Amino acid sequence: MTGPLPPGSVIGILGGGQLGRMSAVAAAQLGYTAHIFDPKPNSPAAQVAAQATVAPYDDRQALAAFARSVDAVTYEFENVPADTAAALGEHGLPLRPRPEVLAVCQDRVREKRTLTGLGIPTAEHAVVEGPEQLAGALDAVGRPAVLKATRMGYDGKGQVTLREDTDPHTAWARMAGSAPGAAGIVEAMVPFALECSVIVARGAAGEAAAYVPVENRHPHHVLERTVAPAAIAPEVAARADALARRVAEGLDLVGVMGVEMFVRHDGGVLVNELAPRPHNSGHWTLDACPASQFEQHARAVMGLPLAATRRHSDAVMDNLLGEDVHRWHDLVRDPEARVHLYGKGEVRPGRKMGHVTWLLADAARAGV
Ligand code: AMP
Repeated sequence: MTGPLPPGSVIGILGGGQLGRMSAVAAAQLGYTAHIFDPKPNSPAAQVAAQATVAPYDDRQALAAFARSVDAVTYEFENVPADTAAALGEHGLPLRPRPEVLAVCQDRVREKRTLTGLGIPTAEHAVVEGPEQLAGALDAVGRPAVLKATRMGYDGKGQVTLREDTDPHTAWARMAGSAPGAAGIVEAMVPFALECSVIVARGAAGEAAAYVPVENRHPHHVLERTVAPAAIAPEVAARADALARRVAEGLDLVGVMGVEMFVRHDGGVLVNELAPRPHNSGHWTLDACPASQFEQHARAVMGLPLAATRRHSDAVMDNLLGEDVHRWHDLVRDPEARVHLYGKGEVRPGRKMGHVTWLLADAARAGV
C-alpha cells in the first residue's frame, strides 16, 4: 500500500468486541466501512458494521473470502491465533500492526525480552516451567510475587499472588487450573504509587503521537476507573510518554497501543504490559479529545496521517462491569454523563458491558 486508502475502502477487523465496535464507528466517520470477523454471531462490533463473517479463526475458506472483501486488516484483541494472521498475510493485504507485534504481545516471556532489549525497565522476573523451578525463582525474585501464565492471561486471569506463606506447588496448581499447560513467569510484586498507561499511536509513515498518561485503578484486577490525566509530576509523565514512544518505535508499530505501567514512589516507571490495539484506558479520548484512540487506530491502519492527541477536557471514565450496566437507566438521565453501551446481551459478573465518562467539571459535580 503506498498512499492513504480512500473513503469507501473496507477495514477488516478480527474480533467483534467493544474495541472493534468503537473502531468500526470511528472508521465510518472517516468514510470507511468495516467488515468484522468473529466466531460468534451478533457481536458488539458486527452490530455497527456493514459486513460480518461468523466463522472460527481457523476456517481458511472464510478467511480467504474475508481477505478478498477488505483493503486492510487489523485486530481488536491480541490473542488472534498466529496462523490466522499468517493466512491473511498470504493475500498481500496490509496487516496492521504486523503479526510479529501480536506474537510479542501474546507471550509474556517474549514481551519482557523485547522490552528489556529496548532498554525499558520492567518488574524483576524469571521464567518458570514448573513448581520446583518456581520455588527456586522465588529466592531470586523475592516475595510477595505474582505468578502469571505466559499466554492468554488478561484482566488478572491466570495470575496468582505469592505471599510469604504461599506454597509454590499450590500457586502453580492454581495458575495451571486457569491456564492449562501454560508455562509461567514469576514477577516481583512492585510496590507502586499508582498504575498508569499511555496510549500511543504510530502511523504508516512512522510518525508517533501519544495521549497524556492516565491513572488506572484495578481494585479487583479488572480496570474500574481511569483518571485523565494521571496526578504525576511532569517529569514522571514525560518519562512514561517517552517509554511508550520507544516501545512503539522499537516494535515498528502501525496502529494504536496501550502501554501499561507502574509508577514507583520514587517516580521510577516500569512497563507492565503491552496491548497492541485500542485500550480500555483510552476510552476517555472519545469524549475528551478532538480525535479518539479509535480514530487514530483507523487512521493508522488505513494509511492516513494521525490527528491531534491533545485533550480539551480532563476526564474520569468508569467501566460498567456486569450488573453495573443496569445503571444505564439513571445514567442516561444525567445530561453530563457520556454513556457508551456495547450491545452485549448476556450480563456476566465482571464482564465489560459499557463505560461512562465525565468531563472534569461534571466529574466534580457527580462526586466521582
Ligand atoms: P496484568 O494482567 O499483567 O496487567 O496484571 C493485572 C493487574 O495485576 C495489574 O494491573 C496490577 O494491578 C496487578 N499486577 C500485575 N503484575 C504486578 C506486579 N508485578 N506488581 C504489582 N502488581 C501487579
